[in-house]
Amino acid sequence: MTKDRRLTSQSEDFAAWYTEVVQAAGLVDYSPVRGCMVIKPYGYAIWELMQSALDGLFKATGHQNAYFPLFLPQSALDREAEHVEGFAPQTAVVTHAGGEELEEPLVVRPTSEAVIWPVVANWIQSYRDLPVLLNQWANVVRWELRTRPFLRTTEFLWQEGHTAHAIAEEAREEARRMLAVYREFMEEWMAMPVVTGEKTPSERFAGAERTFACEALMKDNKALQAGTSHDLGQNFARAFEVQYQTEEGRHEFVWNTSWGVSTRLIGGLIMTHGDDQGLSLPPRLAPYQLVIVPIWKSDEQRQSVLEKAELLRAGLAGGVRVHIDDRENMTPGAKYFDWERRGVPLRMEVGPRDVEKSQVVLVSRTASAEDRKRFVGDAEALATIPEMLIDLQAGVRREAERRRAENSVRGLADYGEFKARMEGSGGFVYAGWCGDERCEQKVKQDTKATIRVLPDPEFRSEEPPERCLCCGESADHEALWAKAY
Ligand SMILES: [Zn+2]
Repeated sequence: MTKDRRLTSQSEDFAAWYTEVVQAAGLVDYSPVRGCMVIKPYGYAIWELMQSALDGLFKATGHQNAYFPLFLPQSALDREAEHVEGFAPQTAVVTHAGGEELEEPLVVRPTSEAVIWPVVANWIQSYRDLPVLLNQWANVVRWELRTRPFLRTTEFLWQEGHTAHAIAEEAREEARRMLAVYREFMEEWMAMPVVTGEKTPSERFAGAERTFACEALMKDNKALQAGTSHDLGQNFARAFEVQYQTEEGRHEFVWNTSWGVSTRLIGGLIMTHGDDQGLSLPPRLAPYQLVIVPIWKSDEQRQSVLEKAELLRAGLAGGVRVHIDDRENMTPGAKYFDWERRGVPLRMEVGPRDVEKSQVVLVSRTASAEDRKRFVGDAEALATIPEMLIDLQAGVRREAERRRAENSVRGLADYGEFKARMEGSGGFVYAGWCGDERCEQKVKQDTKATIRVLPDPEFRSEEPPERCLCCGESADHEALWAKAY
C-alpha cells in the first residue's frame, strides 16, 4: 500500500492488490503459524452469510448436518490406496499426545471420507437405510507450501457432503445435483458466473471415478476452481466395507459421492468484484448492505441526525442489513473511504439539512459515476432501498458476465497463438483436446495453462473443435483451458 493509503492498483500488480485488500478491508490477520489465517469478524460475517445460504440449499435437497472427529487413525486413511497416495504429501500427523508417543499416529483430516465411512457403515443394514445424505461444516488441514489468504491455506473452513446410495445411477445424479446447487449459489448469491463440467482423469479427486467442478474467471483472467463434486463409485464402499442388503437379500456395496466448497469462495468473491478502491460485495453476501453515515458539527445536530438514522434503520429492519457509523473520531469523508474499501453496496448520508428537508443522500458502490449519488425523500428511501439492492446484485452479476465473455475465446486452433495468449492477457480458451494426458502435460509445461473442465453441453461451442490444440490430432473433447489459482 502506498503512503496515502491507496491500494496498489489491480493493473499494476494484482497479487499485491489482493494481499493488501484482504487486510485493508478487515477480513483477515496473520497467524503465528505460517499458512494459517485468522478470519476477522467482518470476513467471518461473509462466511456466515455463505454458510446460511448453502445450508438452506443443502437442506432443501434432503441433506442433514452431522459432525465427525478431527483426527483419524493413519490406518483408516491407508485403506483406500489412491486416496492415501493423493493426500499423503499434504497430511499433518500427530505422533505425540498427553506427553507420550502414540501407539498409532493420528492424521488431522484433510477430508473426511476415511473418518465418516467406517462409522456410517454401521448405520446401514438394508436398502431401507439408503440413501444416506450427510453434510458436515468443519475445518480441514492440508499442508501447503505456498499459501494465500482464503485461496490456499493450510487449515481452511469448508462444508463436505457425503452420501451413500443403493444404485450407481442415483449417486451420479446426486453428484450432478450438488454441482447444480453450487452453481446456483455462485451465480445467485456471489454474482459470480461459472462454467461447469468434468475434470480430466489427471485432475480428479484422489479416489473418485469422476470429478465435476465449477470454474470461475477472476479479474486477473486466471481461473478459480470454486467447488467440486465427486462420483466416488464403489471405491470407498469397498475400502471401508459399506454394504447393504437388497430387497432380494443380497449384500451389495453402496455407491458414494462427496462434494465441497470452502472459504476459498471468499477469495473468489474478492477477485470477481473487487476494484482499485477495495472490496465490492454483492448485496446478498454483504454483512452490511447499507451503512448510514450521520453528519454533524454540534451536539444538537448530532442528536437529530442520529435520531433520524435510527428511525430509518428501524424502518428497514427485517429486510435490509443496516449499520449506523456513529464513530466520533472520524470525518465523514474518512468513513466513506472506509466503507468503500470494505465493499458496502449502499451508503446513506444524513446531515442536518437532510433532517430539515426530510431527505437522505444515497450513494451506491457500483453504479456508474453519473447516477452514483441521489437525493431521495425519506419515505421513498424506505420504499426503494430493498429494490435498489436487488438491482445492484443484478448489476454486479451482469458486469461479471460481461467481463467473462470479453475474456473468453473460442475456435482457437493455433498452438502458437494460444501460447502467446497465455503469456499475455490469459482468460478462458475453449479448444480441442485429443484426450491424451501427454498433451495436457505439455501445454501445462509450456504455458502453465491447464484443462479446467471438459465443459457441460450448454457451455460448449456451436462448432465443436476438430483438432487437438497441442498435437493437431483429431479432438475427442472440447476443453476449457486457463491458467488457474
Ligand atoms: Zn493432443
